[in-house]
Amino acid sequence: MLVVGAGPAGSAAARVLAQAGRDVLLVDQAGFPRDKVCGDALIPDAHRVLERLGLLDRVLAEALRVPAVRMRGPRGGEVAVPGRLAVLPRRRLDALLAGAAVEAGARLATPWRFVGTLEHGSRVVGARLAARDGRPAAVEARWTLLATGARPQALRDAGLAAARGPSGVSMRAYLHHPEALARWPMPSMFWHGALRPGYGWVFPGPGGVFNLGVYVTGRDAAGGARGALPSLHRLFERFVALHPPVRALVDGGRWLGPFKGAPLRCSLRGAEAGRPGLWPIGEAAGSSYLLSGEGIGKALETGLLAAEALLADGAAALALPPPGGAAGAADAAAERRRAAAWAALAPHYRAYERGDLANRQPWLIDVLAWAVRRRPARLDTLAAILDERHVPQARPGPALLARLLLGRR
Ligand SMILES: Cc1cc2nc3c(=O)[nH]c(=O)nc-3n(C[C@H](O)[C@H](O)[C@H](O)COP(=O)(O)OP(=O)(O)OC[C@H]3O[C@@H](n4cnc5c(N)ncnc54)[C@H](O)[C@@H]3O)c2cc1C
Repeated sequence: MLVVGAGPAGSAAARVLAQAGRDVLLVDQAGFPRDKVCGDALIPDAHRVLERLGLLDRVLAEALRVPAVRMRGPRGGEVAVPGRLAVLPRRRLDALLAGAAVEAGARLATPWRFVGTLEHGSRVVGARLAARDGRPAAVEARWTLLATGARPQALRDAGLAAARGPSGVSMRAYLHHPEALARWPMPSMFWHGALRPGYGWVFPGPGGVFNLGVYVTGRDAAGGARGALPSLHRLFERFVALHPPVRALVDGGRWLGPFKGAPLRCSLRGAEAGRPGLWPIGEAAGSSYLLSGEGIGKALETGLLAAEALLADGAAALALPPPGGAAGAADAAAERRRAAAWAALAPHYRAYERGDLANRQPWLIDVLAWAVRRRPARLDTLAAILDERHVPQARPGPALLARLLLGRR
C-alpha cells in the first residue's frame, strides 16, 4: 500500500493499514517536522477520530485544551459553544501523527514527491516519485491513497483533475503573548460585514502562542465562483481595526513569523472520487468544512474510512500484478464501501454549506446569539451540532429566523 502525503489524512490511513498488518509506504515531499498553514484547532470530530486511532491522550498531552468556541457577530452578539476542543500547532500534531504511523509499522520516506501514477491497463498500480534532486523512483502498490492536501497539482498528475479553484483561502500567523491567555481562554471567531465572505479568528495555543488569521470562502454551495477574493492582508488589517481587544492583543504581543496563506478544498467537491487502485483522501478529496474551514477531523476520518474500506474483504491484501477478474470485483466492492462511507458524511457537509450563509450574512451570528440568550437550551443544540450528534436541516435564512422568533427549536 502506498500513501502519498503524511498530513492527518495520510498518516491516519497509514496507521490503520499498518496496524492491520499491511505493508505500507508513506511518502511526503516535505521532511518532518514540517509546518502546515492552519488555525490548529481540533474540533470534536478530530477528537473522536484521534480516540479511534489511539492517539487522543498523546495529542491532548501537548495541546491547549479549551472549553468552548466563541462566535461573535458584527453587533457584538456572542455565543460560546461548548465542546471537546483543543489547539495544537500543526508542526507538532503532524509530526506526532506521522510518528504514530511509523510506530504501527508504516515506512516513512521523505522528501519524495508524487509526480504521476503507474498503470496496468486502466488500473493504477502504484506511483512515480521524484526526489528533491530530480532522481526518479517507481513504487508498485495494490492501492495508492493520495493525501496531498488542498493544492491541486498532485490531483492533476493523478488524472483526478480538479478543474475548480479552491473553495476558499486563508492566512495565519503566530503571535507570542503568554500574559494574554487569561483574557483569551477559548478560540474566538469574529464575523463582520467588512470581513465578508468569511471571518477572522484568534485561537490561543500552548505556550502562550496565539494563532490569528482570516478565512474567506470563494465558492457558493453549488460550486459557482463568487468572483475575485479580497486581499487577505487587507482583511486582516480590517479585522484588527474593528475589534479593540484584538488590537490590544496584537499590540502587546510579538509576531513569531510572517503571515502564510493557503487554499482550502471543502464539501467533498472538486476532485474525482478516484480510479481503480487510487483514491484521494483528506483535503485532496475536498474534506474541509465550508463554513469554518475546519478540516483536520474530516481529513483524519476520510483517511481512517478509506483504510477500513480497503481492509474489509482483503482488497488491500491481493498481490500485484492484479489477477484480472478477482481484482476487479475486489476493487468494485472496495469502491462501494468508500462511496458509502463518504455518503454517510454528506449530511454534515451540507449543514456546513448551509451555514456558509453566515460568511456572507454575518448578522445571522447576532441573531443566533440573541436566540441563545432568549432560550439558553438552544446552546445544547449548538453543542450537539458541533459534536455531530445533531444535523441541522433548516437553512439559516428567513425560515429559520421565523422559527427562532416563534420560539421553537
Ligand atoms: C489558514 C488555514 C487555517 C485552517 N484552520 C483549521 C483549523 O483551525 N482546524 C481545522 O480542523 N482545519 C483547519 N484548516 C484546514 C486543515 O488545514 C486541512 O483540512 C488539513 O490540513 C487537511 O489535511 P490533509 O492530510 O488532507 O492535507 P495536508 O495537511 O495539507 O497534508 C498534505 C501532505 O501532502 C504532502 N504533499 C503534497 N503534495 C505532495 C506530492 N506531490 N508528493 C508528496 N507529498 C505531497 C504535503 O507536504 C503535506 O504533508 C485550515 C486551513 C488553512 C489553510
